[in-house]
Amino acid sequence: MIKPKAVNHIGIAVTSIDKHREYYENVLGAEFEAIEEVPSQKVRVAFYKIGELRLELLEPSDPTSTIATFIEKRGEGMHHVAYTVDDIEARLADLKARGVRLIDEQPRPGAHHMQIAFLHPKSSAGVLTELCEPPKFGAG
Ligand code: ZN
Repeated sequence: MIKPKAVNHIGIAVTSIDKHREYYENVLGAEFEAIEEVPSQKVRVAFYKIGELRLELLEPSDPTSTIATFIEKRGEGMHHVAYTVDDIEARLADLKARGVRLIDEQPRPGAHHMQIAFLHPKSSAGVLTELCEPPKFGAG
């Protein structure tokens, strides 16, 4: 099971963060947090905070980015839902044992120093699903 502790964020694919800042900041009125480059996913990401939830605007930083491919096929819009989990490696092993299709069998580095992994949308009711485990600060 995924056993989410919370919805961590919602990912939204955009052609240009700058183009949509007006909407997110002045129409929606969400709190802008930061822009971060995530080279492992070839994206530039803008974060908006709404309570404990974040919106993650994903702009391709390279034409070979999966976000660029997504926008080409489906246009801009909602891309994925991310759930906060404990012990992401154990969650992935358990899901794999249950026959759930995984895009990432091992976690990889994501934004905010989180470890992330994606499930295949064919195994997650048509919604691309991300697991993320926040970094453990102050350990040891
Ligand atoms: Zn995400």
